[in-house]
Amino acid sequence: MSQPRTGNLPSRSELLLMLGSGFTVLLIVIIVAALLSREHASTLLAAKRSTTNITQLINADVLRNVELYDLALQGLIAAATRKDLAHVSADIQHLVQFDQSTAAPFKGEVLLLDANGAVIADSSTPHPTPRNFANRDYFLAHQNNSTAGLFISRPFKIRCDCDQVWRIAFSRRVSGPNGEFAGVAVATMRLAYFDQLFNRLTIGNGSSVNLLNTRGILLAQQPLLERDMIDKDLSDRPNFKRMLREGEGSFRAISSLSGTERLYTFSNVGELPLIVVVALASEDVFAPWQRAALLTSGATGVLCIGLLWLTWMLRRELRRRHRAEEVLSELAATDALTGLANRRTLDQRLRLEWERAQRSTESLTLLMIDVDHFKAFNDRHGHHGGDAALRTVAQVIGSNIRRPADLAARYGGEEFAVVLPDTDAKGARVIAEHIRSSIEHLPWVAGAERPITVSIGMSTWHKRNRQPLEALLLSADQALYQAKHSGRNRVAEAGAC
Ligand code: GH3
Ligand code: MG
Ligand code: MG
Repeated sequence: MSQPRTGNLPSRSELLLMLGSGFTVLLIVIIVAALLSREHASTLLAAKRSTTNITQLINADVLRNVELYDLALQGLIAAATRKDLAHVSADIQHLVQFDQSTAAPFKGEVLLLDANGAVIADSSTPHPTPRNFANRDYFLAHQNNSTAGLFISRPFKIRCDCDQVWRIAFSRRVSGPNGEFAGVAVATMRLAYFDQLFNRLTIGNGSSVNLLNTRGILLAQQPLLERDMIDKDLSDRPNFKRMLREGEGSFRAISSLSGTERLYTFSNVGELPLIVVVALASEDVFAPWQRAALLTSGATGVLCIGLLWLTWMLRRELRRRHRAEEVLSELAATDALTGLANRRTLDQRLRLEWERAQRSTESLTLLMIDVDHFKAFNDRHGHHGGDAALRTVAQVIGSNIRRPADLAARYGGEEFAVVLPDTDAKGARVIAEHIRSSIEHLPWVAGAERPITVSIGMSTWHKRNRQPLEALLLSADQALYQAKHSGRNRVAEAGAC
């Protein structure tokens, strides 16, 4: 009689609501993730830009300074190879040979070595003390290679130097008139120059600025990541190999020194065999982004959870309303006393089945049932007893119809109706007889003078007769009238309509 319950299956509006909010949450998460990843990329780009600027600044400074050294060396070689200077005094020779080397900062001594490595001119004195540097890397480099150009040595400390500071040497080959090896001009520089240069830069904790030569020897590092880092050979480190291969650029990799991820920005210093590397700790680079990402994700998480919670509450409310509506519509369709369908439902279903029967070839039968002498029953047993009897009769009628399309309804007062779709007169009569006989054989109500009985009028409608629905109702009513007049407690059948 009532609509089948949907159980716990979500209704269409619930589904829409859940899908809508699920989609919204997904969209929010995607948008926030996209924004965060864009922010991450621009943080990386900004870090790359600023470190590239730093390497360029260092490059320019180092290049200018090395040029000064080179000028000094070239001046020394030019002066040393002039024949006319051989005739002037040692003081004047000294003045001509070394006047251009004074401008270079952190300058150490400038020396001229002969083909055997012996010092033949010294910037600190016109009368050099006998010393020999034939075993030094810068001497050997020029002795063995005429095209070495400006050579930059490994860092070294001078034994007699009480400061024990690190130095490097810049050297050039001195060639004889026929291109033969005639010695080396060499200028030393304190590595403290790089320290003061790098110290001026603010790059954050856990980050460092480094200068290496192309053979992988570390010349300077600020701040020092470990003790004894200067002169360390890093040529076998994968990061150094990559820098050497690429010449300049940026990449993120794990540092073999600190074991943490770093952003390396590097570039060659002009044509010199030097590489400047700025290594920023990824942790430093992304710390502000991480804070913002944490905050944004937290807020987004709370927002999404709030949205899902609201959806859940709304869904619960929808379900509650839906159930209330179901109960209401069931109540609106049911007769309160008997629990059968009420008159309104009967009218709707009868019209529906009649329309359906019009489209098919099946018959539609209507039973009109009226309780016999019910006024007398009411008078004897009271209204309360009458109601109870009506409930019992309704129960018997209801239990005698079994097919889902059949409908039993209270028509009004002590009258009932049964709609039997796809049922011809023969089949309907069996059901009607069954109802009549079941009621007749109900146990007698205490104090009753007769059993409760019903009279039933039945009418069958068929498409071929082309009668309106009203004709079906009228003929079923007339058949009921006939059953009453024929003595009650019987089934009367109207002529087919
Ligand atoms: P008949 O055999 O010709 O049908 O006689 P009847 O007395 O049943 O018919 P009548 O129409 O004269 O009386 C119907 C009575 O049914 C009137 C009323 O007292 C009783 N009745 C109608 N509705 C209800 C109801 O909801 N509850 C109770 N207790 N009685 C009702
Ligand atoms: Mg009646
Ligand atoms: Mg009656």
